[in-house]
Amino acid sequence: MSSDCLFCRIAAGDIPATIRYQDDLVVVFEDINPQAPTHLLLVPRRHIPTTLDLTPEDNALVGHIFQVAAKVADNLGFAQDGFRIVNNCNQAGGQTVWHLHFHLLGQRQLSWPPG
Ligand code: AMP
Ligand code: ZN
Repeated sequence: MSSDCLFCRIAAGDIPATIRYQDDLVVVFEDINPQAPTHLLLVPRRHIPTTLDLTPEDNALVGHIFQVAAKVADNLGFAQDGFRIVNNCNQAGGQTVWHLHFHLLGQRQLSWPPG
């Protein structure tokens, strides 16, 4: 837990968020600036700054996050229609919060390529 990290503080319950799912490893909450009718952030409880900081010990964690994303999409009823999982890494990738997170976007037609 990094006390100056926004997503650590949300995961710890210190800063409010609309939480949709949580377990020992991951917290899922609504993005404050949604880019689709469903726009959730999947955040590991442990502070990992970026994708570049992942190690082989995190393989199961990342796999779990993807399984949770699929389950949440299914529970919300848009899994079969389709959805997108996005990870932005560092400045050119559009990352603005330095705690690893995956965006889950759904319930609208998404275009490609992204901006
Ligand atoms: P990224 O640009 O990939 O680092 O994504 C960071 C995301 O966090 C953006 O989509 C923001 O809208 C979102 N965000 C920032 N502050 C909050 C907050 N307090 N609660 C929920 N989402 C937030
Ligand atoms: Zn953090």
